[in-house]
This record gives sequence, C-alpha cells and structure tokens, in this order.
Amino acid sequence: MDEIKRLISLETKRQKETLMMIPSENYAYPEVRATVGSVLMHKYSEGYPHKRYYQGNKYIDEIEEIAIESAKKLFKTPHANVQPYSGSPANAAVYMALLDPGDIILGMSLNAGGHLTHGHPKITFSGKYFNSIQYGVDKNGYIDFSEVERLAKKHKPKLIIAGLTAYPRQIDFEKFSEISESVGAYLMADISHISGLVVAGIHPDPSKFAHVITTTTHKILRGPRGAIIMVTNKGLEKDLEMGKKIDRAVFPGLQGGPHDNTTAGIAIALRFAQSENYKTYAKEVVNNAKMLSEELTKYGFDLVTNGTDNHLILIDLRRKNISGREFAERLEEAGVVVNYNAIPNDPNPPFNPSGIRLGTPALAARGMGEGEMKKIAKWISEVSERKDREKIAMEVKKLCEEFPID
Ligand SMILES: *Cc1c(COP(=O)(O)O)cnc(C)c1O
Repeated sequence: MDEIKRLISLETKRQKETLMMIPSENYAYPEVRATVGSVLMHKYSEGYPHKRYYQGNKYIDEIEEIAIESAKKLFKTPHANVQPYSGSPANAAVYMALLDPGDIILGMSLNAGGHLTHGHPKITFSGKYFNSIQYGVDKNGYIDFSEVERLAKKHKPKLIIAGLTAYPRQIDFEKFSEISESVGAYLMADISHISGLVVAGIHPDPSKFAHVITTTTHKILRGPRGAIIMVTNKGLEKDLEMGKKIDRAVFPGLQGGPHDNTTAGIAIALRFAQSENYKTYAKEVVNNAKMLSEELTKYGFDLVTNGTDNHLILIDLRRKNISGREFAERLEEAGVVVNYNAIPNDPNPPFNPSGIRLGTPALAARGMGEGEMKKIAKWISEVSERKDREKIAMEVKKLCEEFPID
C-alpha cells in the first residue's frame, strides 16, 4: 500500500515536471478523476438504462442516459453506446455487430498511421478473425485514395475503416464514403485521436458519411479511459436495427457490467466539450502543433507530409542518423516524453523504427502556446545534437512550473 502510494506520488511529480507529448495522452479534468474514483465503481448494472439485470440502478440509469444524450448531441448522431471499456473493445464490438468471422475488412496499415484494431495481420483479433486487407499512404505520406478504391473494388470488403493514430493530416470522410458506397461496404470512422477536434469544428465531421463512429474518451476529449460507439442517420438508413445490433454486441456479446464510474466521467467530459472554452482549447492544440512543426522544420527535421493539420507530428529521422527509439530515450532524459513510431514504409522493424511521434493536446491543456512551442522545438533540436540533457531537463522543469496542472 505504502509502496504504491509512493510510486503514485513519484508519477505525479513526473507528470508535473515533464512535457507530456505522446499525442494519445492528456490530463483528464480533475472532476473526471474524482468521479472515476467515486462510489459509482461499486455498482453492477449489466444491461441498459431501465432494462437492467440488477436492482438498485435508478441513479445509474440517469447517469448513463445523460452520457448517451450528450454523445448524441455532440457528435450529431441518433444512437450512442457509452459502455465500451476502451477503444479496442469498442472496435471489436462494431465488428461483432456488423461482420461474421472471415469477412473482408479494409483498414489503414499500422505503419501508415492506422491502429492495431484496424486489421493488423496475424497478431490482433482484427487480423486473425477477419480477412484483412490494408491500404497505405502515397510517397508524400497522404492517404492513397486510388489504392483504397482499387483494393475496395478488387476485394469487396464488408467494412472499410477510416481512422488514425499517427497520420498528421485531415481525413476526407466524404471520399471514403464514396468508395464504400460504390462497393456496398459499411464505413466506420474511428475518430479516437481526433474526436476533440471534430466536436470543436476544426476537423471534418464524419457523421454525414460514416455508418458507425467510434471514439475513445481519454485523448483530446480529456475524459476517463473509455469509449463511445455511435450509429449515424446514414447507418440507420442502411439498417434500422444497427443501433440494437451494436448494443447487443457490447452487452452481452463482448462485455459484462459497464463501468458506471467511467460512464459518469464521460458525461462530465462531454459536458465540458460543449463549452466555448473547449473550442478555444482545441484550436490551441492545432495552432501549437502547426507552430511546433514549422519550428522543427527550421531546425532541419523532416516531417512526414511536411507538417500537420491536427494535433500530431511524425518526424522521419533517417537523415538525422539516429533511430526513433534512441532519440525517444534521449528526449525522455531531457524531460520531453514522446514515443518512437514507424514512418510510412519504414525500412526498419517496429521495435526500432525510424520515427518519433509527438503531439500537443496535453501541452495545450496546461495552457502552453506558440511561444512555448518555440522553446520546445529548440530543446528537441539540442537533444538531436547531443547537447547536455540534464541541463535541458532543468529548463523543461522550469517551464512546467510556469504552467502547473492539477
Ligand atoms: C487509441 C486508439 C484506439 C484504442 O484505444 P484503447 O483505449 O487504447 O484500446 C483505437 N483506435 C484508434 C484510432 C486509437 O487512436
């Protein structure tokens, strides 16, 4: 007990004194953290509001209904399920609802910037239980729509997946929708990374184009670790039962009791996401990423697609003569926490790839702006030149103290 307490306090200090620049990470709102640790975690409530398999759920029902209504309003969809335990189970539930084992799915490959659950072959459920075909990006790093179209016509997938974890540009959901319509496939938009930008109106909105939308709630949304599955009007037009199928796949198909404490945290984060403050925050996330990418370019870094439209940047280190892994380790010593990442068509293996991925959501959450991005770019450049990392770590700590986080 004391040991865990001690480690939590050390981790708290680490988070306060270093730059959280892994683009999928963020600081959840303190209100969300308090809610997730509340008595709601004691409750069992298998089922859905007013259709539970356990007694004592009258308040839980109201909480889940509030979360569902907020999700529908914010993402402009007629149906939402807030029970998935996280992003990966949410995607699994969609596949379970819409596909049979062995069906063909078409998703973006991992090294082009897709996610493991988008059909990564052999080692994931999505690549093992389905017949997975993968599209990539062109030589400039942009989604290759002629390849998507060619693969869709050739293989006739039942589901096409549009979503990103390491793709620094906007996704053209309309184009995906034209292709999926032309072959009669379902289109799923997995907006886990970018849902916060979508609700703020600074990234194209998939609600008119996809049949189903999935998102995690802990990335730019700053909620608890969890996920939401939404069925759009287009989805219901294709299959009136789609919402019911999704709900049944989540429970009892894949999960047992929902995490009601998480559901309440999601309700709070979605309420915050409706505010003007949140829009300002989301704009800052993107402005910061743009400023950081311009500065890094000035320091001679090669960026995949030469920049960014969203919250993340992928640096191609091949000309810098350092591996992604080594650079990420050195940056950590300097207080800049990023992750090593494959670049499109990476010649090196996944455990030692040629890139690093970095993002600005947590920096903007601390209130950092363009001036701070200039400093950070300079530090990243100094680390690549093998300058004194301890000294940089002290400077990083000083900056972090100017932007405290709860
Ligand atoms: C983060 C992410 C997931 C998975 O979420 P987990 O909560 O880590 O399971 C799925 N898809 C995309 C696009 C993501 O960015």
